Amino acid sequence: MTGEKASKSLLLTNVKPMAFGSHTDAGIIDILVDADGRIAAFGPQLAAPGDVERIDGKGAWISPGWIDLHVHIWHGGTDISIRPSECGAERGVTTLVDAGSAGEANFHGFREYIIEPSRERIKAFLNLGSIGLVACNRVPELRDIKDIDLDRILECYAENSEHIVGIKVRASHVITGSWGVTPVKLGKKIAKILKVPMMVHVGEPPALYDEVLEILGPGDVVTHCFNGKAGSSIMEDEDLYNLAERCAGEGIRLDIGHGGASFSFKVAEAAIKRGLLPYSISTDLHGHSMNFPVWDLATTMSKLLSVGMPFDKVVDAVTHAPASVIKLSMDSRLSIGERADFTIFDLVDADLEATDSNGDVSRLKKLFEPRYAVIGAEAITASRYVPRARKLVRHSHGYSWR
Ligand SMILES: [Zn+2]
Repeated sequence: MTGEKASKSLLLTNVKPMAFGSHTDAGIIDILVDADGRIAAFGPQLAAPGDVERIDGKGAWISPGWIDLHVHIWHGGTDISIRPSECGAERGVTTLVDAGSAGEANFHGFREYIIEPSRERIKAFLNLGSIGLVACNRVPELRDIKDIDLDRILECYAENSEHIVGIKVRASHVITGSWGVTPVKLGKKIAKILKVPMMVHVGEPPALYDEVLEILGPGDVVTHCFNGKAGSSIMEDEDLYNLAERCAGEGIRLDIGHGGASFSFKVAEAAIKRGLLPYSISTDLHGHSMNFPVWDLATTMSKLLSVGMPFDKVVDAVTHAPASVIKLSMDSRLSIGERADFTIFDLVDADLEATDSNGDVSRLKKLFEPRYAVIGAEAITASRYVPRARKLVRHSHGYSWR
């Protein structure tokens, strides 16, 4: 539990550092974490005190703790969220960023019941719409201007600035109807006032992906960047592709946000082949995407690896890149006195069928397998999510697989 002192020091043996800057080439080392959760020593074959908990990494990689920049974990406060424990430490993820599940009207509950008790570090993008995702898509949060209260957003931020890292706007017609790009402009105005980034979900137009990009600036995030939706895919319109490439070069962050409907192998493969890499890899995990087709962050990373993204870039896209979005320092993550925050993982040979949001199937030949999340002096055993058998579920618009 957060804040509780572990009774013992922790010795991580036989781990191979990566993504720690200058320490990355250190070879196989041991890391000693004291009972207060701070790094006490690291180096080859450490002599450790007798009374320690020992975790043998067996030559696995160790990186800064993985960050998932887009999840929905306001469990009980929305009809779509999962629990942080379902996508956090036990999946190798030490930091979860909720992408707009809570709005100003219910952020206090999210803070009290989810953020504060969680073992994982939790940050949030505040939804521009007051109600957030209470009844996701059935009661859209941005139908007209009555759904936005600028004064209360500013107040909510002032009371929760240590938790809120930006403003979230879902800009697609399922939510905004024919309101178009106006909510994105209002969101940008608020983000500017607060000096925080805005994360915009692109999907079914309006708003057009193109016009969203024109409003964003350096540091802002487009999530669902490689979606395969008609009218919103960067591969069906060369002008949009060129615009996305230029914006990425200017510092707008392209985020994966896989989700149930927003990641296409074909789009990702074509973009990566042309040199356009995502800035960050995130899952958009929620109750309707976890069991199928997303599963977890490690599988999403494996999917990007399978379409040509280099191994070190994939790891960067769940560590340094999202850390920069949420202004989490990544300097000296492996140094004496620093609080331990690591993911221990392997990259293993595999032959696993995986599906994107368009129903396209790919066989993953390499898999990221998380082994432990290390949070302070606690090493939590981690693994990939094992999906349940899928069920055909009836809802108001027809049927879907869950
Ligand atoms: Zn989402």
